Amino acid sequence: MPEGVMKAWLESSHLNGGNIVYIEELYESYLDNSASVSAEWQGIFSQLPKVEGSEVEYRHSAIRDEFRALAKQANKQVVVSSGNDAKQVKVLQLINAFRFRGHQNANLDPLGLWQRDKVRDLQLSHHDLSENDFDKEYNVGSFAIGQDTMKLGDLYKALRNTYCGSIGAEYMHMTATDEKRWLQQRLESVQSKAALSVDEKTKLLQGLIAADGLEKYLGAKFPGAKRFSLEGGDSLVPMLKELITRAGAAGTKEVVMGMAHRGRLNVLVNVMGKNPSKLFDEFAGKHDEILSSGDVKYHQGYSSDFVTPGGTVHLALAFNPSHLEIVNPVVIGSVRARLDRRDCDQGDLVLPITIHGDSAIAGQGVVQETFNMSQARAFKVGGTVRIVVNNQVGFTTSVAEDTRSGEYCTEIAKMVQAPIIHVNGDDPEAVILATQIALDYRNEFKRDVVIDLVCYRRHGHNEADEPSATQPLMYKIVKKHPTPRQLYADKLSAEGSLTTAKIDELTAYYRKLLDEGQCTVDQWRPMTEHSVDWTPYLGHEWDDDYDKEISLEKLKELAVKLSSYPESHPVHSRVKKIYDDRMKMATGEKLLDWGMAENLAYASIVDRGDRVRITGQDSGRGTFFHRHAVLHNQEDGSTYLPLQNIREGQGPFDVHDSVLSEVSVLAFEYGYTTAEPAGLTIWEAQFGDFANCAQVVFDQFISSGEQKWGRLCGLTMLLPHGYEGQGPEHSSARLERFLQLCADHNMQVCVPSTPAQVFNMLRRQVVRPMRRPLVVMSPKSLLRHPLAVSSLEEMSTGVFHNVIGEIDELDAKAVERVVFCSGKVYYELLDQRRKNELNNIAIVRIEQLYPFPEQELQAVLKEYQHVKQFVWCQEEPQNQGAWYCSQHNFRAAIPEGTTLTYAGRKASAAPAVGYMSLHVKEQQALVTQALTID
Ligand code: AMP
Repeated sequence: MPEGVMKAWLESSHLNGGNIVYIEELYESYLDNSASVSAEWQGIFSQLPKVEGSEVEYRHSAIRDEFRALAKQANKQVVVSSGNDAKQVKVLQLINAFRFRGHQNANLDPLGLWQRDKVRDLQLSHHDLSENDFDKEYNVGSFAIGQDTMKLGDLYKALRNTYCGSIGAEYMHMTATDEKRWLQQRLESVQSKAALSVDEKTKLLQGLIAADGLEKYLGAKFPGAKRFSLEGGDSLVPMLKELITRAGAAGTKEVVMGMAHRGRLNVLVNVMGKNPSKLFDEFAGKHDEILSSGDVKYHQGYSSDFVTPGGTVHLALAFNPSHLEIVNPVVIGSVRARLDRRDCDQGDLVLPITIHGDSAIAGQGVVQETFNMSQARAFKVGGTVRIVVNNQVGFTTSVAEDTRSGEYCTEIAKMVQAPIIHVNGDDPEAVILATQIALDYRNEFKRDVVIDLVCYRRHGHNEADEPSATQPLMYKIVKKHPTPRQLYADKLSAEGSLTTAKIDELTAYYRKLLDEGQCTVDQWRPMTEHSVDWTPYLGHEWDDDYDKEISLEKLKELAVKLSSYPESHPVHSRVKKIYDDRMKMATGEKLLDWGMAENLAYASIVDRGDRVRITGQDSGRGTFFHRHAVLHNQEDGSTYLPLQNIREGQGPFDVHDSVLSEVSVLAFEYGYTTAEPAGLTIWEAQFGDFANCAQVVFDQFISSGEQKWGRLCGLTMLLPHGYEGQGPEHSSARLERFLQLCADHNMQVCVPSTPAQVFNMLRRQVVRPMRRPLVVMSPKSLLRHPLAVSSLEEMSTGVFHNVIGEIDELDAKAVERVVFCSGKVYYELLDQRRKNELNNIAIVRIEQLYPFPEQELQAVLKEYQHVKQFVWCQEEPQNQGAWYCSQHNFRAAIPEGTTLTYAGRKASAAPAVGYMSLHVKEQQALVTQALTID
C-alpha cells in the first residue's frame, strides 16, 4: 500500500466512517478509466480481490472488507507524497465532500433561521487546497459535468452551485451505485439549476399566483374561518402540477394523493380543479351530498381528470381524517388496488403522492411502517413520491428542538435508502427541478423518494391563531417576508422574462376566475378516466336478495382441486395429513372442518373470476396451523398454492404474510378495498388483540368512512377471539369496541360458529353487492373442535344464518329458559346441557351481532313465547363482550314481561385472567350459571 495515499485517505475527516463510499467512488472512476486515478490508487485497486473469471469487476463487499482491514491500521505512520498527484487526490475528496455534506450548507430556509455550522469538509483549506490552485487543471473523476478535467476554481464553483444552492441533495447514504450515479448525473450536469423556457416560467408563476390568490380571497371573504392556509408553502401547487404533468407524459394513468389539512383547499381548487364556487358554498355552510354525518371541508377528498402531454390522468385525493400521516398507507393501498386492476406490477401506470408535515413525518410511527412496506411483495407500488411541506413549526411547537432528534425531519426515509431532496420553497425553479428529478428517480428505480419543501407558515396553525405568542422571532421575520409569488414575479420581471403589466394581467385573470366561480385549472376535465364503476354496489339494503346458491357438484369439484398438489412437491408430514383429510372431506368421507371451509370459500370466489387478497401476520399458513394456503416444498423451499390452480382464467388468489404491523397494513387494506369493490379483501390479525394497534383505522376510516365521505368499503377483518386460558392479551379481540362503533348500519360484526357459517359469511361478502366492512371474531380452538364441522350441503345453500336456533330436538313447550350466546362458549353450553340432560333449556346462537338480526331472532323465539327466563351468556368479563352494547337488542326481541339476565365473568380491568386454573374455574362457573334455572 503506497504510504502517501494511505495517509491522505486516513486523515480525511469525512472519509472516516464514510471512507468506504469515497473509495468506492474512486474505484468506480478507476473501473471506467484506470488512468483517471493516480498511479498510487491504480496500484491499490489492481491488488484488490477479483470475482472469479472477471478481469475488471470486483466485489464491493470484498473491497469494503479490504478497506475496513486497512482502516484498522490507522495508527500506522505514513508519509504524504508531494506534488500535483497528492492534490489530485484532495480534489476528488473535495468533490466527494460536497456530495456527502453539501446539503448541510445549502441555502434551504427561506426565513434564514436555520443555524448551520460551516462544514469544514466543504472548505478548500480542509483539503490542503487554496485559491492559489484555482487555475490548475484537475481530473474531476465521476463529477458529472461533461468534461474530464476542470480548473479548480470552476470546479469549486460548480460544486457550490450544485450542492449548496437552493437544492440540498442527500443521497450518499444510498449504497446502490447506479442510483447514486444517476442522481449525480441529474444534479451535477445542470449544477442543480432548472432550464425553463419563458412559457414554463409563466406557468410556474401562475401556479404561485393561484396558490396565493386563493388564500387571500378566502381570507378576505371568510375572515376568521379555518382554512389551514398553504401560504408560505405556495410552491406546493406548481410542484404538484408538474408532478402530474410529467407523470402523465411518462405514461401514468392515475395519480392518488394523500395529505393532511394544511393547504388542502388550495390543492383541491388549484390542482384538482374543484370548482371554487363549491368551496365557497361549503364555507357558507351549504353541501349537496346527503351523508349521514359528512365531514369538514379540509378533510374532503376529490376526483377529477387532468390533461397531460401523455393523455388524460385520473386524479384522486384521498379523504383524510385529522389523524396525521395515517392516510399514507390508505393512499398506497388504493394505488396497489388500481395497479392490480390494471395488471401492472411495476407501478408505471399509477402514481402515489403522499404529502407530509415536518413534525408529523418525524413523529408518527406509521410513516416508518409505510417506508418499511415500500418494497415488500404484498405492498409495493413501484415507489411513492413523498413531499414534506416543511413549514418549520408543528402547531405551536418549535420543530428542531422539540419535535425530533435527527438533523432533518426526513431522517426516517434513510431506512430504505430513499434519496431526499431538500429544496428552498422560495425558489420555485429549484422546486421544479427537484420535482422532476424525484419523479424520474421513482419511475426509473421504482422506489420511494422524498422532496423536503422547506418553507414556512404565514399564519398560525389556523387563521384564528396568533403564532407570535409562541414563535415571536420567527413571526417577526415572517411578517416582513415577501410571498413566494412576489419574489418570483420580481425575479421574472428583473430578468426580463415577464413585464409587470403581464404579471398584473395574470393576477387579475386568476381573481376573475374566482369572482366568477370558474375552475382555475386549465388541465381539469370532468371525470371519465377512472377504471372502476361503483354504481352496481350503491344503494343496497341488508335484506336485498342475491344469487347465493352454489351447486354441490361445483363444491365437490372445487374441494378436490383445493386439496390437490403435485406429487413432485413434497410437503411437511403434518401438512400432508391435513391435505389428506381435506381430500376425504372433498370426497364425502368426512365432514368439513374450519380450514377446509374457509379455503373452499376462497376457491368458490376465485372460480367466479374474482380476486381474493389476504394479508396478515402468518396468513399463508394461518396463525393456528389451519389454513395452509401456501404449501412449502420440503426439499427445495419452493411454494405451491392450490388456490392459484383452481382453473384456467380464475380470479387471482393473493395471500401474503404481512410486514409485522397492524395499523399501516390495515389502513393499506382499507385503501385497497375502497378502491376495488370486486373480490374479497381480508386483513387478518395474528391474535385479535393486535387490532388494538390499528384502532385509529377502525375509528376514523372503517366504521365511519361511508357516513363521512360516502366511500364504501367491503373489507373483511378476521380477528381471532376466544377464552382458552391464554391470559389477558390473546384471549380477546375486544368485541365490545367494535359493537360500540356500530350505528347507521355501518358495518357487520359476526361471530360464526360453524365451518358452513364461515363459508357462507365469506362468500356473502362478495356475492352480495352491498359493500360494508365485516368484522369477524374468528375462532382458535373451534378450528379443531370435533363438533365444529359441516357438510357440503350446508354450504351449498349459500345462506349465512344470522341467528341459529336450538339444534337438538327439544320439546319447545317444555323449555323454561333460553340462553343466547355467540362463539365458542356455545359448544361448552351444548356439551353441559347434553351431559346433564337439561332439556328444558334451549340455546340460541347470535351469529351476527350487528346489524342486529331482530326479525330472525323473533322468528326463532316464536316457539318460546311462554318462556320467562332469557339469559345472555358470554365468556368475556361483564364490561366487555356484547353485554353492554347489545342487551337492548335482546330485550327488544324477547316477549314482554320476561327477564333477561347476564351469565358471565364479573367486570374486570384486564380482558382475561392469566392463570389457567382460575380461567377453568371461571369458565365452568359461567356455563353452570347460564344453565341453572332460577
Ligand atoms: P376515484 O378513482 O377514487 O377517484 O373514484 C372515482 C369515482 O368512483 C368517485 O368519484 C366515486 O364516484 C366513485 N367511488 C370511488 N371509490 C368509491 C367508494 N369506495 N365507494 C363509492 N364510490 C366510490
